[in-house]
Amino acid sequence: MGLLDGKTALVFGVANKRSIAWGIAQAFHAHGARLGLSYAGPALERRVRPLAEGLGIDFVEPCDVTQDDQIEAVAAKAKAHFGQVDILVHSIAFADREDLARPYYQTSRRGFLLAMEVSAYSLVALARAFKPLMPPGGAIVTLTYYGGEKVAPGYNVMGVAKAALESSVRYLAYDFGPDGIRVNAISAGPIRTLAAAGVSGFKTMYKMFPLLAPLKQPITQEDVGHAAVFLASDMAAKITGQVLFVDSGMNIMAFPDKDTLTREFGAG
Ligand code: NAD
Repeated sequence: MGLLDGKTALVFGVANKRSIAWGIAQAFHAHGARLGLSYAGPALERRVRPLAEGLGIDFVEPCDVTQDDQIEAVAAKAKAHFGQVDILVHSIAFADREDLARPYYQTSRRGFLLAMEVSAYSLVALARAFKPLMPPGGAIVTLTYYGGEKVAPGYNVMGVAKAALESSVRYLAYDFGPDGIRVNAISAGPIRTLAAAGVSGFKTMYKMFPLLAPLKQPITQEDVGHAAVFLASDMAAKITGQVLFVDSGMNIMAFPDKDTLTREFGAG
């Protein structure tokens, strides 16, 4: 018996097989959900369609989340295809590479607005468009990173956008609560994806991560997929407005342990 049997889920943000959204889609499929996928635009179609076909998904629609007409169009198509959507996954972020490579204070106005629009506002726009399709018991899940709470060098404007995204999760949870729709975020540890490749210093951080995190284990797409199944399922029926860390415990650490410091920096 799957935790998502009888539920329909629409997953935004599959770019390729490494995407966190794809890990979530696979976990949802394994737990019995009926699935639809949405991807950013035509350039990604040749990657996303074969993945969808592999899971027998027949709803695969482009949607650039900076375009209200495209959001409305995908919501209308989802209504015609599925009738209702129980679960909405937002796994989308973007910032200009230059803004992740220079100090935060040098972020351009255009770069700031772009990162905010794609990475934070898009959750609000999608939630609004899909609310009429979501029944009580519905769930919205987005993806965030600890750099929205604490300074993660190089994460820069994306960290500021994640702070806005996490705050949006709380305000949306408040707005949607009376309708029985829950809104939560997963704060994932580092996973090698297209988006992560744009973050300066990611490789080093990725390598250091298992040394520093209490569980000493890297984070996988499957780890995030399992947490998303839980948050989207009725097992999490009274959980809303939360940020759930899937990070091997990294967020509880204030400082690396002595062995790591000695090994990396020669400190005694
Ligand atoms: P990814 O590159 O596979 O996914 C990012 C997605 O955003 C892509 O599918 C891309 O097409 C989409 N996107 C960008 N601009 C868009 C637009 N205008 N319209 C529609 N879609 C657009 O990388 P990922 O790591 O799977 O990222 C998914 C989410 O997970 C992001 O929110 C990211 O910040 C978050 N996250 C990633 C990590 C990590 O280490 N990879 C850690 C924590 C959180």
